[in-house]
Amino acid sequence: MTDTIFGKITRGEIPTEFLYEDEHCVVIRDINPQAPTHVLIIPRKPIPMLVEANSEDQALLGHLLLVAGKVAEQLGVGDAFRLVINNGAGGGQTVFHLHLHILAGREMAEGALAAGLH
Ligand code: 5GP
Repeated sequence: MTDTIFGKITRGEIPTEFLYEDEHCVVIRDINPQAPTHVLIIPRKPIPMLVEANSEDQALLGHLLLVAGKVAEQLGVGDAFRLVINNGAGGGQTVFHLHLHILAGREMAEGALAAGLH
């Protein structure tokens, strides 16, 4: 499986501040924030993209959502944030190691296609 920058970050090979970490995932600030609060929830398991997850990953995927809610609350944006997963180059994915974006702190346009990521 191809390694990515997120593999190196989750393994601690590139010094990066973890806003949260546990045995399954880490949370870091996005290097190129698209909103005042923009963090990434990255599983330690290097699943390249969401469609490559399988039934074995069900608990992990649920865990990532729970962590998203918890971290959003810790960051003070628990009542107003957007959660984004880009899947595939056509979906705007640039790092092929599954991750969730939490975006908050700016007006979020309404509508499914208004995420404003990339
Ligand atoms: P994607 O487009 O794959 O959904 O999101 C990848 C995100 O990772 C982008 O928002 C990009 O700014 C962020 N990113 C890419 N490389 C790094 C890095 O080395 N460190 C951090 N903190 N974020 C990164």
